[in-house]
Amino acid sequence: MQTVAAQEKQIFELLTAMGHEQVLFCNDEVSGLRAIIAIHNTVLGPALGGTRMWEYASDYDALVDALRLSQGMTYKAAVSGLNLGGGKAVILGNPRQHKSEALFRRYGKFVESVNGKYITAEDVGTTKQDMEYISAETKHVTGLPEHKGGSGDPSPVTAYGVYMGMKATAKKTFGTESLNGKKVVVQGVGNVGRNLVDHLINEGAHVTIADIFEDQILAVTKKHASVKVATGDIFDLDMDVYAPCALGATLNDDSIARLKAGMVAGAANNQLKNTEIHGKMLQEKGIWYGPDFVVNAGGLMNVYSELEGYNREAVMAQTEKIFDTTLRILDIASNENTHPHEAAVRLADRRIAAIKHINSVL
Ligand code: NAD
Repeated sequence: MQTVAAQEKQIFELLTAMGHEQVLFCNDEVSGLRAIIAIHNTVLGPALGGTRMWEYASDYDALVDALRLSQGMTYKAAVSGLNLGGGKAVILGNPRQHKSEALFRRYGKFVESVNGKYITAEDVGTTKQDMEYISAETKHVTGLPEHKGGSGDPSPVTAYGVYMGMKATAKKTFGTESLNGKKVVVQGVGNVGRNLVDHLINEGAHVTIADIFEDQILAVTKKHASVKVATGDIFDLDMDVYAPCALGATLNDDSIARLKAGMVAGAANNQLKNTEIHGKMLQEKGIWYGPDFVVNAGGLMNVYSELEGYNREAVMAQTEKIFDTTLRILDIASNENTHPHEAAVRLADRRIAAIKHINSVL
């Protein structure tokens, strides 16, 4: 994967380096809307990715975030076998202060203006209510609430996919997919993490959890008396599996040097602080890594299904296949002597190249 370039890069240099097709800058003085829609690649289908609302330090930071996130969506969709491209949008502003119906409806008109080439959904800083406003102006929005005919909360589906990816990584690491008796540390027990804990407990894993909020911890320990709560830094714990389900970049120089797990698989996006350096560092330490965008693709599968008429059973069957995809990627990593993140990117690139060829044949 091409990494995001240094600050001084010109915009078109950046787009070329990262392979973007189109970027739309959206500006509306009356509603206060300032947004960037990044369409990375539409070879496999329309570019789907959420709309993030965030107060960025600079416009350039917002652009780089949109470019980086949309590229990630291309890989996620490609490797998951979905007929979707990658896109992502950012709205510049504080989600607690700058939201209004007018802002989201104006944004919806911009989404509509690219005629379905970009499909949006909820992301950090946006809510179901915001999606409803957007949907007043465009039909190219997914992840709507169930009462609006949407697929509702994707987190249980994401958690099931993470569980499948974890089992596949366990098979590669320990020679068995069973997590029975394995010591698993789940960092972050929010929407995905707490659903993941349910699967792990059902299978007989020894689970330790960590969260910065006491109520999140209590919700899990009340349900599962056997779950332990981490005291101190989790990277000092003895564990078989580390499951990052909170924030990105938790796999870095410091944490990998201390990590005592045999494998890593979790829901968080962008777990590797630097994909090349830290992907390799895990490999050299003999720690197997289920790539984040492979194992956490259940949420994307869930919203994708909504586009074709939501069917929960079909989505769960598709999510189960994350087991096979993860194992395939880990085998590519072994066979091609690379680390799993790079193997996943190669698999995605190969699918995109193959379909591009098919599309070019009369
Ligand atoms: P969430 O906000 O519901 O849960 C995150 C949890 O992590 C919260 O309980 C929070 O208190 C905790 N947390 C934050 N910082 C922490 C820290 N330093 N140490 C320990 N805990 C910490 O989010 P979620 O929907 O459960 O998503 C979890 C991760 O998975 C995110 O990175 C998200 O981007 C990613 N993801 C989620 C989905 C989905 O369907 N929800 C899909 C794909 C990826």
